[in-house]
Amino acid sequence: MPNQKQKIIIANWKMNPASFIEAENLLKTIKSGIKKSDNLKIVICPPAVYLPKMKPNSNFDLGIQNIFWEDKGAYTGEISAPIAKKLGANYAIIGHSERRIYLNETDEMVNKKIKAALKNNLKPILCIGETLEEKNQDKTSEIISSQLKSALKNISKFQVPSSKFYVAYEPIWAIGTGETPTSNEVMSAALLIRKIIAGLYDRQTADNLSILYGGSVTGKNALDFLDNAGMNGLLVGGASLNGSEFARIVNLI
Ligand code: PEP
Repeated sequence: MPNQKQKIIIANWKMNPASFIEAENLLKTIKSGIKKSDNLKIVICPPAVYLPKMKPNSNFDLGIQNIFWEDKGAYTGEISAPIAKKLGANYAIIGHSERRIYLNETDEMVNKKIKAALKNNLKPILCIGETLEEKNQDKTSEIISSQLKSALKNISKFQVPSSKFYVAYEPIWAIGTGETPTSNEVMSAALLIRKIIAGLYDRQTADNLSILYGGSVTGKNALDFLDNAGMNGLLVGGASLNGSEFARIVNLI
């Protein structure tokens, strides 16, 4: 049953904090605030330059917020999956809406990045979700379906076992806005994601997939998504920059 899987909480620090000293302090507050739970995986995704100094322990693992699809070469400013691994990352957020919006990242690029991550043993956290305009036009299912299918194009089910691949449903209109979908809406999105995965692969792969919710998660609403919407985890942006708030979310599990 998907709900009984180990829960995963991912902190996406985005382009914050402004210095490594602040990052260290934030990490200290998080570490001292969280109670241990065997049924939980915490992944911190700081700005990539902080990764080598972050020293993961049994309580948390590290992720990168983006990778490039080639392993090496003349790609100024990019970070490859092998470099991300060497920096200490075991997870990679791929296809975040901020990158799709500000950097024109396409579904095709997302697909190439997922392949690069899987090839290099980085666990992709694929972000998908609709804009407010698309939601208002009743296009949520269409968007989820096309983003998910494109992202997984020419990727076999053996490459995406449940321990190595995550999907985060992140409605763009909920990111950083304080607005959130209802638990029913999130549950419907997750059901659709499982249906698509079952169609692409099989029922078992779909059942085993961990699906996360992301978008204005706080200590107040986190349980609604975990318990009522039955999500397997959360992707937390803004609230992960407040160490005690992030610990509060983690301690709900
Ligand atoms: C995100 O950027 O992935 C995110 C979920 O942000 P926030 O929690 O701030 O909405």
